Amino acid sequence: MRLLPLRCLIPPVLAAFGLASCGPSSPPPPVSPPAAPVGTVSAAPVPGPAPVKAAPVPAPKPAASVSPAEATATAPPSAAAGSLPTHYTVRFVKDGDSVTLTTGEDLRYIGIDTPEFGSPFSDEARELNRRLVEGKSVRVEYDEETRDKHNRLLAYVYVTVDDGGGATHEVFVNAEMLRQGLARVYPHEKTRRHAGEFLKLQQEAMPEKKGIWGVDKPMDVAFFIGTRKGKAYHRPDCKFMQEVPESARTRFSSREEAERGGKTPCRSCNP
Ligand SMILES: [Zn+2]
Repeated sequence: MRLLPLRCLIPPVLAAFGLASCGPSSPPPPVSPPAAPVGTVSAAPVPGPAPVKAAPVPAPKPAASVSPAEATATAPPSAAAGSLPTHYTVRFVKDGDSVTLTTGEDLRYIGIDTPEFGSPFSDEARELNRRLVEGKSVRVEYDEETRDKHNRLLAYVYVTVDDGGGATHEVFVNAEMLRQGLARVYPHEKTRRHAGEFLKLQQEAMPEKKGIWGVDKPMDVAFFIGTRKGKAYHRPDCKFMQEVPESARTRFSSREEAERGGKTPCRSCNP
């Protein structure tokens, strides 16, 4: 409850979507009013990669051409990216970084992590994702690893939005979540193609206190620790760090310092 007033500080671009809610009982915004084109998301006056003006986008394959059976048959856990479909239709959005496809499969966005259900800005993250892709045809790109341990597809997701007047542009959804401060980078060894770009977007959103970066969490330990190569940062007493010799540890004086460097909060000690 203490955090509620922060929700009043949602950036104007989100407010434009009707996402700002300053009360605990605001109803969720309607799912798909024919409101401003989603393209306004990328039109926010934020420095950073501009959306690519689309040359004609290849016509999406009708999703119906990929039955769940086919998808399963052609996409075993070790499937190379080349054998997987490049277009899907999103049946529904689960949260800020995962969706269910009309094939019945779940797809997890690569390289980002959005707030867990119940955490600050989890609703906003899900809502932005919903506005961008729910019910839409999306183009996907894969990285070296195409499925996670839950057998979800891992992908970079692009959606073509209508700017009006016949013009369209493509929004890189993974990047858009970071740009709006509704996701943090989630580095992984085998899904690193856009890691540099993603970290840069996060580093731009942090000082602007967009979304999750505007939530002040009290500093309740003297410092945080990690290792040079490890992707997480931890509380000093985290069980995962007890075996790590002092010489191999890196100290961070704040969460910001750790996250600016691309470290992600440990899911066990929850720094
Ligand atoms: Zn930890």
